[in-house]
Formats: sequence, C-alpha cells, structure tokens
Amino acid sequence: MDITELTVHELQEKLKSKELTITDITKAYCDRINEKEKDVQAFVTLLTDSALEQAKEIQEKQEKGEIQGEFTGIPIGIKDNMCTKGVKTTCSSKMLENFVAPYSATVVEKLEKENIINLGKLNMDEFAMGSSTEYSYFKKTKNPWNLNKVPGGSSGGSAAAVAANMVPWALGSDTGGSIRQPSSFCGVVGLKPTYGLVSRYGLVAFASSLDQIGPITKDVQDCAMLLNLIAGHDEKDSTSANRPKVDYTKALKNDVRGLKIGVPKEFFGEGINPEVKEALEKSIEVYKNLGAEIEEFSLDVANYALATYYIIACAEASSNLGRFDGIRYTYRTPEFKNLKELYKKTRSEAFGAEVKRRIILGTYVLSSGYYDAYYKKAQKVRTLVMNEFNKGFEKYDIILTPTSPTVAFDIGTKSNNPLEMYLADICTVSVNIAGLPGISIPCGVDKEKMPIGMQLIGNRFCEETILNAAYTFEQAVKFRETYKPEFKK
Ligand code: GLN
Repeated sequence: MDITELTVHELQEKLKSKELTITDITKAYCDRINEKEKDVQAFVTLLTDSALEQAKEIQEKQEKGEIQGEFTGIPIGIKDNMCTKGVKTTCSSKMLENFVAPYSATVVEKLEKENIINLGKLNMDEFAMGSSTEYSYFKKTKNPWNLNKVPGGSSGGSAAAVAANMVPWALGSDTGGSIRQPSSFCGVVGLKPTYGLVSRYGLVAFASSLDQIGPITKDVQDCAMLLNLIAGHDEKDSTSANRPKVDYTKALKNDVRGLKIGVPKEFFGEGINPEVKEALEKSIEVYKNLGAEIEEFSLDVANYALATYYIIACAEASSNLGRFDGIRYTYRTPEFKNLKELYKKTRSEAFGAEVKRRIILGTYVLSSGYYDAYYKKAQKVRTLVMNEFNKGFEKYDIILTPTSPTVAFDIGTKSNNPLEMYLADICTVSVNIAGLPGISIPCGVDKEKMPIGMQLIGNRFCEETILNAAYTFEQAVKFRETYKPEFKK
C-alpha cells in the first residue's frame, strides 16, 4: 500500500483499524516530499523534521489516552500567506522573507486544536497576485502532471503538493480564482467558500472584500471534512458570518435527481479551448444521465467581471500593502538618507514587478481625479454582477462553467504578458465579486493528458448543494481512479 495515495478519510479508517499509526503516515509523507520536492518545488518552508517529532509525541499521547479526535495526527500543508506562530510566513515575497508571525491565523489554530500536523508552508505568487505561481520571489512550482507546465496560481504550491501526494490535503486562499484555477490545472478538488464563512484573521490581506481561505483536496469528501474544520464565526474577523454549524459531509448524498443546473452560454464562447469545451459538454451529459435538469441561459457578467475585479482588487491591495513600509515588517533597505528614501527604497527593492504594477494601478483608480470614473464605477458594476447571479439562482440550484478557459500552460509563456495572465481568471473572478461559493473538480484530460476542471457555483452559503453535486459527479466519473500525474519532464 502506498500511504500517500490515500485520501484523508481513508487514512482515518486505517488509523481506526490500527493498520497504520500516526508516525507511519507522517513518515510516508516526509519520504514522499524528499523524493518529489526537487522536481515539484511546492514548499517555501519545509517542516518535515518537526512534523516527525510532533507525530511521535501525538502518537504517545494518544496511546496513553490523553488525546483523541478523528483528525489527530493527520498531516496538512498550508499556503504561505496564513500566519503560523513560530514559523515563517513569507507570502513568497522578499518583503517578508524572514517574517515570523507572533500569532497563528484562526484557521491554523483550528487545525492545531485537532492535533493536525503541519508539513510546511506552500509556495504561491507573491502576495497571492498571479495565476501561475511564477511570481514567487523564491521558486517556480512545477505542475506534477508535466513539469514543464505551471501549476496555476496563486495557490500553486498547495495544489501541486496535493496532486503530487506530498501532503494529503492543503489550505489555499482565493481572491479571484486562486484555489479553483490551480486545482483545475493540477487535477484536484478546490473550494472557495462563501465570503464570510471562513475567518480571514491571520490571512495576509490582498483584497479584503474578495479573499477567502478554502480546502484543496484529493476528493470531495475530504473537501467537505476540511471545510467542517475551518468554517465558523470568528469575532476577530468583522466580516465573518454568524451562522449555525453545518456538517458538510452529511450533504454528500450521491444523488442529483431533480437538481436544476444552469449553464451560462457566455462561459462557453470565444477564448475557451475546444478540448476544455468538449470535456465540459461531456460532463453536462453525465449530469443529465444522473437525473439533473440542465438548461442553457445567459449570465451577462463575463465581459465586465474581469475589469471590475482588477480595479477593486488592485485598489484594495494598494491600501492593504501600505503597511509594508520598512518600519513594521522585516525587510528594510540597508542604506537611506531620510524617511522618504527609506520607504521608497524598501518598497522598490522588496516588491516584485506584479505587486508594484497592482499598487500603482490601485493607487491610480483611488486617486481623487479618477475615483469616480474607475473605482466607484467598478463598485456599481459589482452590484450588477451580484444581481445577475441572483437572477440565475431564482431559476437554478447551481451554475456550471469551466474553471479556466485552458489547461495548464507552459512555464514562461505568460509571465511577461500581464493581460494574458489576467485572462486565466475569466471564469472565476465573478464568483468572488458576488461573494458566492465555487468548487472546481477534475472532469477530464486533454490530448496531452493535462487535467481539465469544471466549476460549480452555488448561491450564498449553499456549499452543501455544490458539494453534493461535485460528489455525485466524482462517484460517476472516477477521475482519480483513472488518471494520475506522471511527472513528465
Ligand atoms: N489570479 C488572480 C489575481 O492575480 C487571482 C488571485 C487570487 O485569487 N489570489 O489577482
């Protein structure tokens, strides 16, 4: 048995039946990381040594009956923009290269309480700005299906690590698609929860009105379990929703009969790769055969959502990143004559080109002469996008689209063309703009055996509906049983 092939729910069974111990599992993952990390480069900080120690400790305590819990001793990987007390949190930026947060993010605390073991901090685009993980200051993560291709981004390290079996599951964050798009590129499951369902406390802010933390997993059941662990009200996050606790695994009924699925024709037009389109059309047939009701409709957001997203996201980023001034957080330019020069040199030296581009764009759209023309207008369009979705959800339970217009692209092909890079998010950004939940699950491969992702969008706080639909599809199609990453060189 290859332990690292197992899902978390399978690991739990093996722990229960005593077929495996906690140290067996952690050791298997550390060995796998040792074998694959040189090719995949998913981690910014590796915690394999401390993970092994922790596994031993936890196992002893558990054997003595001092701790229990169904997640005790399960390992995880965490995107490097979530604060972990005592361990570096870099956001893959030179600015935070040596930053050690004095506290842990709420989601991280929740995992620690369950005695989940952190295997390391995962690579990302700098400050989560990007769609390929090529904008990391430290390294370029590779796609486990083909090492010449990007894993997607910005949570590329998380998605690649799950796909390569270097972690059983991981946390990512999604501002405009950064959980779903890399999950699609790497053939794994990724969920962006409804805005407000998961606490953002301790997540380094990119665009606060869009950011959400969510699970990246091997299958939908693991996704529901990890969502169970991280969802919930947090008074430390003023945008966190106060709602009754839900057990998302109970929603997985393997039944979509009568489910109404809307397919927006705008998401299948120009710019969508024909093989992606074909895979999606086949998936729609699968749903039909499973008894769902499918209807094409018009969701007129795709044309405006991207522009709106880049105005709002950059505006918020320019404000959020103002705190990195050379005074409060780690990096400071070595030589300066006065305060102004300290700010200027620190920020010029420690931010990468994409981050600077966004700060400049964001500052511009917020400046007095242009605020009304850009920022205010974008906020109005945001409301229109929400209204369009609301109309859609009057008729449908779920909206089905591709996750990305293409499969994973070759490393280096878009990194010098920001506009093309931005287009990778055309199918996902509107979901963040409207604050909705969206899940990406693998639905096929192209001729080169690169995974294709399907996105299911739900109404606000209807995670159960999309999880069940994703689960039912997964049970019917058995993607994971059919295709495996080949680490092609
Ligand atoms: N790729 C998008 C961007 O660059 C989304 C990033 C994200 O979701 N964090 O902004």
